[in-house]
Amino acid sequence: MDTMNHTYSWPASVILLHANMQGKASDGHSANLITLQNKAGMTATFMDLGATWLSCTLPLTNKWPLANENREILLGIDSLEAFYQQPCYLGATIGRFANRIKNGQFTVEGSDYQLNNNHAQYCLHGGVEGFDRKRWQMVEFSEQHVVYSLCSEDGEQGFPGQLDVTVTYCLTENNRIEITYNAVTDKACPVNLTNHAYFNLQGHREHMDCRDHQLVIQAEQYLPTDENGLPTMGLIPVKNSSFDFTQPKTIGIDFLQDDHQKVVSGYDHSYLISGRRNEQQPVVKVTSPDAQVVMEVMTTKPAIQFYTGNFLQGCPKRGGGSYSNYAGFALETQYLPDSPNHPEWAMSQSLLQVGEEYRHKTVYQFGF
Ligand code: BGC
Repeated sequence: MDTMNHTYSWPASVILLHANMQGKASDGHSANLITLQNKAGMTATFMDLGATWLSCTLPLTNKWPLANENREILLGIDSLEAFYQQPCYLGATIGRFANRIKNGQFTVEGSDYQLNNNHAQYCLHGGVEGFDRKRWQMVEFSEQHVVYSLCSEDGEQGFPGQLDVTVTYCLTENNRIEITYNAVTDKACPVNLTNHAYFNLQGHREHMDCRDHQLVIQAEQYLPTDENGLPTMGLIPVKNSSFDFTQPKTIGIDFLQDDHQKVVSGYDHSYLISGRRNEQQPVVKVTSPDAQVVMEVMTTKPAIQFYTGNFLQGCPKRGGGSYSNYAGFALETQYLPDSPNHPEWAMSQSLLQVGEEYRHKTVYQFGF
């Protein structure tokens, strides 16, 4: 078993797990995991590979009719073999550009760029070897937080400029996971960082289906796509469509009741967040089917991708076996997909200039 505490002195309340992630990474070394725990007993586990949010448990103690449940609300894996097998980005940090860039092409200040496409028609989640596949450096930690950093070289996956990125995860005493992204570049480059956690607030179990959760998304507009998930016609109103979650609605109610869903086998769409965004006002609220867990999402980003896990089938599952489609949902806070090729979306301009700092924050608040 590897040890990682030879260079640090670990605070007593930070729990380390080494043996739970079997196997070696592509660089020949083990994964390094850290588990944070707050006073309420909520835990969050992170891994340096992909700066991944691996696990999140909520102590549902003394809650009638539940006896004493420690509920795992994230989909995840427990071996590195599974980590490399799964194409679903479970809990990983996504960069440099989350979601799609059409043909993997864009122009910045008169220069054309071609990305290392991982799909025929587009580049998804940063290319063939995105940030989700990188070993990040754990540069700081305490009982409440862990900071990962990554230096992405000029030209990596086709993107211009050296990008220095940090991702900070914080577990607060009021049961929040706060994720802060910071980045600077030495050449202007589109940057769109997010986390790809899949949630199922009913817990990890044999038959999992996220469509029985109740959802609110504070968004009046969404972005229809073609079968490749590429935007087709610009933003349109959610009103009078299956995409309207401005009032609480069970995800399954209008499921596949619309051509815009059918073309991508469910919800896999960007919503433009309504009104002023900040890290205080929830833009999303999700309630578990048994009403024991509520999750709210706050963000400084302009948009959020709501994805019902339409292509999860076969993805290796924590504890063995594999997930089925719709086992969990993702709520990825982002700029709109293909933003670099849509200068008309003034509210979603992702270009990071030299001398500027990319700074965004997303908060997942849990009530249980
Ligand atoms: C995309 C899906 C994709 C999934 C996993 C989501 O962000 O929108 O289309 O299948 O990531 O790759």
